[in-house]
Amino acid sequence: MPIKPEIAEIAATFGAIRRDIHAHPETAFEEVRTADIVAQQLNDFGLKVHRGLAKTGVVGSLSVGTSNRAIGLRADLDALDIHEENTFDHASTIDGKMHACGHDGHTAMLLCAAKYLADTRRFNGTVHFIFQPAEENVAGGRVMVEDGLFELFPVEAVYGMHNLPGMPVGKFGVQAGPAMASADMFTIEISGKGSHGAHPHQGVDPIVTGAEIVTAFQRIVSRTLNPIDTGVVSVTQFHAGRAMNVIPETAVIKGTCRALKRDVQDQIEARMEQIVKGICAAHGLTYTIEYDRRYPVLVNTPDETTKAANAAIAVAGAENVNVNLPPTMGSEDFAWMLQDNPGCYIRVGNGEGEDGGCVVHNPNYDFNDQAIAWGASYWAELVEQEFGT
Ligand SMILES: [Zn+2]
Ligand SMILES: [Zn+2]
Repeated sequence: MPIKPEIAEIAATFGAIRRDIHAHPETAFEEVRTADIVAQQLNDFGLKVHRGLAKTGVVGSLSVGTSNRAIGLRADLDALDIHEENTFDHASTIDGKMHACGHDGHTAMLLCAAKYLADTRRFNGTVHFIFQPAEENVAGGRVMVEDGLFELFPVEAVYGMHNLPGMPVGKFGVQAGPAMASADMFTIEISGKGSHGAHPHQGVDPIVTGAEIVTAFQRIVSRTLNPIDTGVVSVTQFHAGRAMNVIPETAVIKGTCRALKRDVQDQIEARMEQIVKGICAAHGLTYTIEYDRRYPVLVNTPDETTKAANAAIAVAGAENVNVNLPPTMGSEDFAWMLQDNPGCYIRVGNGEGEDGGCVVHNPNYDFNDQAIAWGASYWAELVEQEFGT
């Protein structure tokens, strides 16, 4: 079965809501207007609405029939600190902020599915529609979980969806197991002794030592990890010194590490500390390391991945669902919701070339409204298959 006919009829309405949200982007924990729209819509559909988890989070609950089983479906609300370069009518009206990751579309797709499911009621169970703030950078999903999301709304499983530019509209991609990497951020400060640039023997140079550390980090992945495993160590900042004739006191090195397994994440962190400690000891410097595990590995559980794939296949056809989508080293806040629950995160095609192919986080990106009916039909089918009457 392709797009659900009832969804095809209402998709344009949710396209208009999507473009309105796109024109009024809001970033982390400030998604007040967006949350108002979501709460108003859910209320209008007759759902029970809860607000305030992680400040701007919204949960709409829809119970049909007598079953006490429940699942969660999750979308994200937030925009990015990017200045939009698109000039179409629904371009961002707020300088320096834009929906460059398609969370406007994710919100619209989940609202569309809620409307359909509330109207048709062809299932027996409870669906919690979770709209989370601050997916980008600051883990609003983690905050929702810490604020008691799954104590207030217990679920058997939780599902997420993200658009994928470059994949044609009407196609889906998913994979069992690790789908997205852990994202850790590190800040290392090394301290030596400042001196005149002409008299290095009177100081302890943090720049030469810092450079050695950066070089040694390249061996963590290439010489420490099992080659079968995947990891990334990227130094993205190196700050030291102000004058051309002064050896500074300190240097600061920052960056990010990625892994697809928890033990690889542990290995990278431990090795990094060993390298900094050893090189600083060799040259007489002190150091501090802040190692922030910001997002865990996103792991799709096997049974729920099968359910997600089956729902996508029912909507799009087996030839349009890649059930072996390669994992990526990007990361996703939804991983926090999968820490304590089984579930699955799926990709929906955003289109190719000029029609939805622009990569996310680019100032020319836009969510493709043609994807709304596909994504919403997937959500609806997932619920109807899981809670079939
Ligand atoms: Zn993003
Ligand atoms: Zn995103």
